[in-house]
Amino acid sequence: MEKIDLLSLTYEELENYLVENAEKKFRAKQIFDWLHNKKVDDFDDMTNISKECLQKLKETSYLTSMELVKKQVSNIDETTKYLFKLTDGNFIESVFMKYKFGNSVCISSQIGCHMGCSFCASTVNGLVRNLTAGEMLKQIYIVEKDTNERVSNVVIMGSGEPFENYDNVIKFIKNITNPNGLNIGQRHISVSTCGLVDKIYKFADEKTQVNLAISLHAPNDDIRKQIMPIAKKYSIKEIMEACKYYVKVSNRRVNIEYAMMQGVNDSLKDARELAHVLKGLLCYVNLIPVNEIAENEYKKANMSVVNNFARELDKCGIQTTVRRELGSDIDAACGQLRNKQMEEDR
Ligand code: SF4
Repeated sequence: MEKIDLLSLTYEELENYLVENAEKKFRAKQIFDWLHNKKVDDFDDMTNISKECLQKLKETSYLTSMELVKKQVSNIDETTKYLFKLTDGNFIESVFMKYKFGNSVCISSQIGCHMGCSFCASTVNGLVRNLTAGEMLKQIYIVEKDTNERVSNVVIMGSGEPFENYDNVIKFIKNITNPNGLNIGQRHISVSTCGLVDKIYKFADEKTQVNLAISLHAPNDDIRKQIMPIAKKYSIKEIMEACKYYVKVSNRRVNIEYAMMQGVNDSLKDARELAHVLKGLLCYVNLIPVNEIAENEYKKANMSVVNNFARELDKCGIQTTVRRELGSDIDAACGQLRNKQMEEDR
């Protein structure tokens, strides 16, 4: 019999699992507390659970574990990058960031990625597999333990396309927002997609208050097709229509992520075209100079160019922020640390 991944179960699934194993439903609250608040790594640490029940848990389920193998702390801003080794030998990364409004963790949703965005280190070795909901949660739980600080914001923007791992991401969101667990508000969670239009509609219909971020990175389909293969499947127009639906259903603004690459997408003409595309969408734009990585030739746009681009968008009525570059001294681009580790292992 295949063992159940306990950390990945939603609260309701945990209740059902206990009832199916002839245990009382109320145990779910206690076990959920051990898993998601006390963050135990061992069944025997669940001290208020009867021996009989623990025995059943051990026989039929397992606790997700991962090893913290590397940690890089930025000397500039305390941003901390974590590299974890999973039980199957794969590596994933997460980033801990401190902001005025609280602590944020950016997590990976897949091991690698197969979306093929040409500026991104995560996709260099393709996709290995989806992460389970438990593996996504565990990244946050280990960071909380390691920093001894509470995480108040979660960004699903690390390696992977979250909507390619849709069901597990939904389970993750259910667990991290559960009042019996970490109870992070939905408005403090952001999920980023490269523009899987069908999934944007599906996600809107989940009727959450989660922030939706679109990795747009181009003002038109021609430029987008050069840097993001998904642009061959979905046009910017289709993405915008899906975003408008998301805004209508959720009443939330959409974040437009735009990595600025020198000579690719950073001209004032591009800014005006982007403003035109975004007209009528309740959104704000995050501009960030692209992270330069060894695997490609892209150069980050100069800061003066980025600021002029931002001003042009503002002039056109599009709310824009130039995002702080965090952890620029610690392999900040997602996928970089994992790639280095894989090379070392080879
Ligand atoms: S930018 Fe996101 S979707 Fe594109 S390859 Fe990287 S991780 Fe995948």
